[in-house]
Amino acid sequence: MSARPDAASPAASLHVDWTACDGRGLCAELLPEVLAADPWGYPVAAGPHPESGGEPGVGGAPGVGPAPWPRREGVAVPAAALPDARRAVRMCPRLALRLEGAGGDRRA
Ligand code: SF4
Repeated sequence: MSARPDAASPAASLHVDWTACDGRGLCAELLPEVLAADPWGYPVAAGPHPESGGEPGVGGAPGVGPAPWPRREGVAVPAAALPDARRAVRMCPRLALRLEGAGGDRRA
């Protein structure tokens, strides 16, 4: 028996090239279920830390301590958000967004 992918479980992850990103926040507007803009417009993970039960800044790997939050790298993208994530990658004006997973590393 094979497991069916859960629409809410991470199917891919988003990565930002910080040398290219200009912090205008278009990706956060296109993908609000996954990304939010920090006070300067740069993309960060939306919502509470996934391991915190809603408490910001709690979680992380055992023995390492709390994970930095909001996460800025390797932001999890659930399967249901993949079409919007691909659109955000395509529309990034600085070509600074990359989607890993979901059938291989890709820009779109
Ligand atoms: S759309 Fe691209 S350039 Fe704009 S904030 Fe997002 S990653 Fe940065």
